[in-house]
Amino acid sequence: MRVLTEEPLLRYNTLALQGRARAFLQVRAAAELERALAWARRQQLPVIPLGEGSNVVLAGDIEALVLRMAITGIELLEEDDKQASLRVAAGEVWHPLVEWTLRRGYYGLENLALIPGTVGAAPVQNIGAYGVELASFVRAVHCVDIASGREHTLAGAACEFGYRDSIFKRSLRDQVIITAVDLQLQRKPALQVNYPALAAALAQQPAAAITPQAVFDAVVGIRRSKLPDPARIPNAGSFFKNPVVAAALAAELAARFPGLPQYPQADGQVKLAAAWLIEYCGWKGRCRGGFGVHPEHALVLVNRGGSSGADLLALAAEVAASVCDNFGIALEIEPRVYGA
Ligand code: FAD
Ligand code: NAP
Repeated sequence: MRVLTEEPLLRYNTLALQGRARAFLQVRAAAELERALAWARRQQLPVIPLGEGSNVVLAGDIEALVLRMAITGIELLEEDDKQASLRVAAGEVWHPLVEWTLRRGYYGLENLALIPGTVGAAPVQNIGAYGVELASFVRAVHCVDIASGREHTLAGAACEFGYRDSIFKRSLRDQVIITAVDLQLQRKPALQVNYPALAAALAQQPAAAITPQAVFDAVVGIRRSKLPDPARIPNAGSFFKNPVVAAALAAELAARFPGLPQYPQADGQVKLAAAWLIEYCGWKGRCRGGFGVHPEHALVLVNRGGSSGADLLALAAEVAASVCDNFGIALEIEPRVYGA
């Protein structure tokens, strides 16, 4: 086990922010994870798991042992003519997993194509896109408790999945390392193609041509046309969550701001499009101190040659203050901020 000290994290986060980890280890096996957690306990260092760093903001140096989760492997647990269950190790990269499942004829993940990141991070955020959420496929999440090193398993129903939310962002925040995720996929396609952008992309195709592969291709096409590739323009995807507000406030806003998109939720609340609020405030395409609001997508903050997470957070605070002034809504940052 080779723990690195004062390791620069620039290449381990998709916003390309500077920041060092007091201690850093790539974890490639379960036994290595066990030793690393014991080492951190002896050093009295907190532990932070990291995948591809596509949903984090480094606001400074991290006084912790950062564990880059790189344990790989896909195991077929069960398969019949209706369903297939897989155990996928935390360090597998999400998009190649989606491709692999499609090749094997295991369906369901096609709308979640091209989401950056690792399998281990996917339940944390309950990744979602184009009308589908990971939660629908999670049978169990396997974890190791950071404080004790003990292994335990949560059933999908115990993960308290919500909109871009889970128990791993709440009561289990900073408590566990996810080592593997069990997914249950379908052998017969059950396509979800109602999401407007996806429906529009598939509108010209005859019904028989709308296969899981066609949905995957359409999602990849839409995402490539709209979202900046972090390898070229560093970013962390949506920087703010879409706010979910009470129906009465939504109705009041609808009267004041015709055109404000509103999406009623099952619980009676209403989701608003944060990108629309930000664009209304005139931020789309604007830059500040090396960072900017992407000109094609107002929800994505991009690195235009900056390096300091504090500068990025200053821009984010200005954007959020404008939205609050105009709409009375407090935007919440989606990525996890470290080193602040
Ligand atoms: P990291 O950024 O490394 O970590 C994120 C959080 O999870 C951190 O708090 C970290 O400590 C924790 N974590 C990581 N691994 C583990 C583990 N093994 N055990 C416990 N905790 C862990 N998200 C969506 O939901 N939908 C999208 O459509 C989407 N599109 C995106 C597009 C772009 C261009 C980008 C850059 C991001 C996008 N995201 C999207 C956000 C991001 O891809 C997801 O949140 C992804 O799951 C993060 O994976 P990661 O491995 O990079 O996690
Ligand atoms: P979009 O299609 O431009 O729509 C804008 C927003 O409106 C989305 O955030 C979406 O909410 C919401 N929306 C649109 N149609 C909806 C409907 N019929 N029902 C409910 N909500 C609806 O979105 P986009 O920004 O290009 O993103 C496309 C998809 O990829 C979205 O699902 C988005 O969440 C996901 N994505 C996520 C990230 C991230 O980092 N989290 C980054 C890029 C893309 P939802 O977000 O709830 O879907």
